[in-house]
Amino acid sequence: MTDVSDEFVHPKCYANTRGGCSSTISGEHYVSHGLIKLYQDNDPAHRVQHRTGKGVSHPVTPKNFKANILCQKHNTALSPADDAALEFATFLRRNALQYDAGSGEWGAAEEIFISGDDFQRWVLKLFLNHAATNHFGVQQAKTVRYPTEAIDLLLDRAAWPSTWGLCIPADLSNNDLWSDPFQRKEAVDVDWWGCAPFIFHDETWLGGAIVDLSHVSFGLTLFNPGRHDPRFNNPGNPIRGTIQRPRYMGWELEGIEKRIYFDWEEPRYGPGITYTLMSQERDWRSLGTLPPGRQFTKPQHP
Ligand SMILES: [Zn+2]
Repeated sequence: MTDVSDEFVHPKCYANTRGGCSSTISGEHYVSHGLIKLYQDNDPAHRVQHRTGKGVSHPVTPKNFKANILCQKHNTALSPADDAALEFATFLRRNALQYDAGSGEWGAAEEIFISGDDFQRWVLKLFLNHAATNHFGVQQAKTVRYPTEAIDLLLDRAAWPSTWGLCIPADLSNNDLWSDPFQRKEAVDVDWWGCAPFIFHDETWLGGAIVDLSHVSFGLTLFNPGRHDPRFNNPGNPIRGTIQRPRYMGWELEGIEKRIYFDWEEPRYGPGITYTLMSQERDWRSLGTLPPGRQFTKPQHP
């Protein structure tokens, strides 16, 4: 049966490249509403805003941190991506608050399984939500495009080229990327997301981004970043030393690991990585001494 609406292109829907839109436009949250509610911590006075770039420059309620950029049908189709990100963040935040950077309990070993494909799609969606609204600084003066294939990948209409996609930090000397979600509550609940685009071709093309969630950084490339070239690991490359399509990410303290597995539809994924936490001195932490190691001060990506 052919449905005429399969052809419909909603002019305001950024996922309209091959039609398939519904006639109703919907508010898409710049970052998933479920995530904002998680970090809102039951505070009804909680407000959110963009600190840089174009978008929501004044504090609004979580419900209003959105833009009319996806039709209802395409918005709904992407909810599994939001679910995957929420599972990831819920697991890390719960453990981070329990551990409280050393003054609480690390607890027993745990593992969860989330869809790597849906999580990768969420990272892509966060990037596209901002690229499609001309949020990024570089878009203020120029027309900056992103590859239209991104929409096919977002809607699962095409397979990801093997060299594209999600990657995670594996070189801890790379300070451009975060991999320590187990901070104090005051740190955990601020700056818990971010998105910095990769800008190419004389500032006319966006090829992906570094997206942060729960103080963990993810690279997402819509191009081949040349992993086999020795120049890939040069200090100017923010995704140097990363693992593509990881099997898992784990955090270990004294041999006890909290691990998040990524399930991938295709058996074409990279290894996992376990990050080791430094032991914390509980008495010091109880007195308010900051934990040792890297505190969260992140340089802005260009
Ligand atoms: Zn649409």
